[in-house]
Amino acid sequence: MSEQRKGMLLVISGPSGTGKGTLIKRLMKEDASLVFSVSATTRAPRPGETDGVDYHFVTMERFEELIAQEAFVEHAHVHGNRYGTLRSEVYERLARGENVVLDIDVQGALNVIASEKEKVSIFVLPPSLKALRERLTGRGTETPEAIETRLHNAIWELTQKDKYQYNVINDDLDTCVKALQGIIEAQKHSTTYYTVEVPEE
Ligand code: ADP
Ligand code: 5GP
Repeated sequence: MSEQRKGMLLVISGPSGTGKGTLIKRLMKEDASLVFSVSATTRAPRPGETDGVDYHFVTMERFEELIAQEAFVEHAHVHGNRYGTLRSEVYERLARGENVVLDIDVQGALNVIASEKEKVSIFVLPPSLKALRERLTGRGTETPEAIETRLHNAIWELTQKDKYQYNVINDDLDTCVKALQGIIEAQKHSTTYYTVEVPEE
C-alpha cells in the first residue's frame, strides 16, 4: 500500500491567555509536520519577540496596503490592534502537504471556519475565568487595562466555542497537549487528508 497526505489547516483559537501559544510550541516541538503561520500585526513587539518569527510587525499603513493587495486569508481588530493571516503563509505550504497552524482570535477563526472548506478548528478554553486572569497577569506582557479588555472580550469569545469542531480545556498542560495530539493524529488518518493507494494485485 502506498499513502498520500494532504496538508491540513489547523485553526487554534480561544481567549487571550488561555495558553494557545504555549500549546502550539509544544505541539511543534514534537511534530515536524506542523508549520506555524506567522501573522502580520500592528501591535508592538514584546521583549523577546522576533520579527518574521513570532509576527510580521508592520505599520498601520503597511497593514492597509496588504488589505488592498488582498494578501490576507482573514484579518481582524483584536484588543485594539490589527492582526491578519497572510495567504503567503498558508496555501503554498498546504499544497506541499504541510500542516499549517493558525493561532488566531475568535472573530478571525469564525471567518476561516466560514470560508475554508477543509479545516480542523479547535477552541481552547481556560479551566476558569479566575485562571485566565491569573495567566494573563502572570505572563506580565500587558498593562492592567489591556488585561481587563482581554478578560472582557473572553466572555463573548467563550460563547462561540460550539462553532468549532473541537473544544479542549487547557487545565493541566501535558493533558491538554495529549488531547490536541490525539485530535491531530486522528485527522491525519481522516479520508479528507489521507489516501491509501491499493495496488492492483
Ligand atoms: P495565549 O497564546 O492563548 O495568549 P499563552 O500561551 O501566552 O496564551 O499563555 C498565557 C500564560 O499562561 C503564559 O504565562 C503561560 O506560561 C501560562 N500557561 C499556559 N498554559 C498553562 C497551563 N496549562 N497551566 C498554567 N499556566 C499556563
Ligand atoms: P497577542 O497580541 O497576545 O500575540 O495576540 C492577541 C490575539 O490575536 C490572540 O488571540 C491571537 O490568537 C490573535 N491573533 C494572532 N494572529 C492573528 C491573526 O492573524 N488573525 C486574527 N484574527 N487573530 C490573530
